Amino acid sequence: MEKIELIKPDDWHVHFRDNEILKAVVPETTRHFSRAIVMPNLTPPILTGNDAIEYKKRIENEIPKEDEFLPLMTLYLTENTNKDELKKSYENGLVFAAKLYPAGATTNSEAGVKDIQKIMPILETMSDIGMPLLIHGEVTNQEIDIFDREKKFIDTTLHFICTKLPDLKITVEHITTKEASLYVKEGNRNLVASITPHHLALNRNAIFVGGIKPHNYCLPILKREEHRKALLKVATNGNSKFFLGTDTAPHFISDKESACGCAGIFNATYCIPILAQIFDNENALPQLENFISKNGAKHYNLNINKEKITLIKSSQNLIFKKYLDVNEQKIKIFDPDFLVFWEVAE
Ligand SMILES: [Zn+2]
Repeated sequence: MEKIELIKPDDWHVHFRDNEILKAVVPETTRHFSRAIVMPNLTPPILTGNDAIEYKKRIENEIPKEDEFLPLMTLYLTENTNKDELKKSYENGLVFAAKLYPAGATTNSEAGVKDIQKIMPILETMSDIGMPLLIHGEVTNQEIDIFDREKKFIDTTLHFICTKLPDLKITVEHITTKEASLYVKEGNRNLVASITPHHLALNRNAIFVGGIKPHNYCLPILKREEHRKALLKVATNGNSKFFLGTDTAPHFISDKESACGCAGIFNATYCIPILAQIFDNENALPQLENFISKNGAKHYNLNINKEKITLIKSSQNLIFKKYLDVNEQKIKIFDPDFLVFWEVAE
């Protein structure tokens, strides 16, 4: 039996949704994580500081008594966001960051930004006050192939923002390509990226080979093996610009197994054991703590957590629970296509 102790991790990208799903998924995150950045793409989206505070209360109501957990709230940027109100919400501590969704990029992103020029004054304000910008980095033009949308976004939009506002704190979320890993690595000092466990675990074969696998469908979509390898490399080599953002995104099974299935993978439950296995397979366990517990906090100017977690590797592989029950419905829990021997000691 092998045992390692790590600083308790944070998740820098979480979808908690609302109502019954919120109630079911919050404990899955608070069990292993100290803090999380909570995404604002509800229907309707979180547009104001007040929306964020109300949502934060609903989340806090679902945190189990034994867990200490801090949700960090975000605003959903639109072309109509008022920059003075945004500034006030940030400076009063109601929100932690703002999220840029190109219109139509993913679940509930219809109200997102169509023309980046229209929000440049808002981004300038954010740069001035040090407020982090979180980006879903994909173009949404119908004529661009779905596998090229991240690269296209970097070439057109991200590079434009980074050139105009070199000091803006930007997280390119859930990167999926070697181009993104390279752009972030060599880019502005304040430009960083989050990476999900599923993009480290799987390539696009996992969606299409042996029949269509709707539970491996997410956005940005899984890419070729060479891209997965590039992500693995930056995640496991200790570069402080890359950190965990799980993008854990619950949908009911009935909405995933459908003629028009939803994008999103619910991975909160076994995220840490899966990552430990991935890092172990790469002989990179000593870098795991940087990736899950340190690099993100440093970028966001937050203290590193004081609490610790213990990971144990046994000779028996971990048996995954398949589903999370939500009343009469179920959410599929992410299970990668390999055995996991690590688990978190409770
Ligand atoms: Zn997301």
